[in-house]
Amino acid sequence: MNVHEYQGKQVLKKYGVVVPGGHVAFSPDEAVQAAENLGGSLWVVKAQIHAGGRGKAGGVKLAKSIDEVRQYAQELLGKVLVTHQTGPEGKEVKRLLIEEGCPIEKEYYVGIVIDRSTNRVVMMASEEGGTEIEEVAEKTPEKIFKEVVDPATGFLPFQGRRLAYNINIPKDKVNKAVKFMMGLYQAFVENDCALAEINPLITTTDGRVMALDAKLNFDSNALYRQKEILELRDLDEEDAKEIEASKYDLSYIALDGNIGCMVNGAGLAMATMDIIKHYSGDPANFLDVGGGATAEKVTEAFKIILSDENVKGIFVNIFGGIMKCDIIAQGVVEAAKQVGLQVPLVVRLEGTNVDKGKQILQESGIDIVTADSMADGAQKIVELVK
Ligand code: GDP
Ligand code: MN
Repeated sequence: MNVHEYQGKQVLKKYGVVVPGGHVAFSPDEAVQAAENLGGSLWVVKAQIHAGGRGKAGGVKLAKSIDEVRQYAQELLGKVLVTHQTGPEGKEVKRLLIEEGCPIEKEYYVGIVIDRSTNRVVMMASEEGGTEIEEVAEKTPEKIFKEVVDPATGFLPFQGRRLAYNINIPKDKVNKAVKFMMGLYQAFVENDCALAEINPLITTTDGRVMALDAKLNFDSNALYRQKEILELRDLDEEDAKEIEASKYDLSYIALDGNIGCMVNGAGLAMATMDIIKHYSGDPANFLDVGGGATAEKVTEAFKIILSDENVKGIFVNIFGGIMKCDIIAQGVVEAAKQVGLQVPLVVRLEGTNVDKGKQILQESGIDIVTADSMADGAQKIVELVK
């Protein structure tokens, strides 16, 4: 789960990570109020969306007066920002972060990830802050330094000092940088983060070491024990179909193809997407209805698939193991009747009570194309949506 920059900074602040003073604003009036509360003579108006690359896309503005704060706030709120991370459709800006302007001395990069090859938490740092780290990794990988964390000891101060020296933090600020990294690590571990990225971390001409940007991502599987983090969820930033699916405990991920897939089991769902691709089709979604899907769940799954206007056909691929094929067939028939199916439907059933299931489909009076195998079904649906 992602959160906004201002929320990430609030979390980090609790761990002693220094962040600029700032307030969230939902309207130009609130933006002005926030700037007046902060005082000073330079403010930064930052669009809050769940995507990076805002600076380049015009989503980060430096305001030299309160009037400019109001002007930028009016400009940004309601604007659809297109960055290299939003996709071409962009994201509408509904919140702003109003921050004190900071006298930047230099920008650095610090990030924490879980490294699957070492099964450890790894902190990475680079002198090349402000730019995309992927670009640094590709062109000048020698400029990225890593410290692998032993879970028994946690991130140790000497590792922080080694990183700080490697990325050439000025000597008089090394201790502050180490404190920053220790706090960042603590925040990462205690909140079950999957990613914490500070780009840029800055040193300022008035001697501070702080997070100018913050991107935190939390492990969704740990949210049950992170109630405070879960409250930070912003549903506006998520796909409406995915939210609807989560209400019914369906694992659904929207994709950009035109073949809707309804499958039970994550492995079978992956294999189904692969085989559709193999026959030159494009899946519109990943959907695992789970082992114990009821007729109601199947109906909801159908509705969600059909609410995607890109869907030109549906492929139901079910293996009846725990779940019986006749139950699934009933669900499919009921759903098709309820939602008034307008697109071709291919169904492949296999497993327990398969004959009963097929009979139910045949006798339903609904226009269903049955398939004998996954490959057969995939070929048929690809042909039908052409
Ligand atoms: P991103 O583009 O979405 O990653 O947004 P960032 O929060 O990283 O901001 C982009 C850039 O805006 C930073 O790299 C800075 O160069 C600039 N910026 C942000 N806040 C300030 C500030 O307080 N003072 C100055 N001078 N520049 C800032
Ligand atoms: Mn950034």
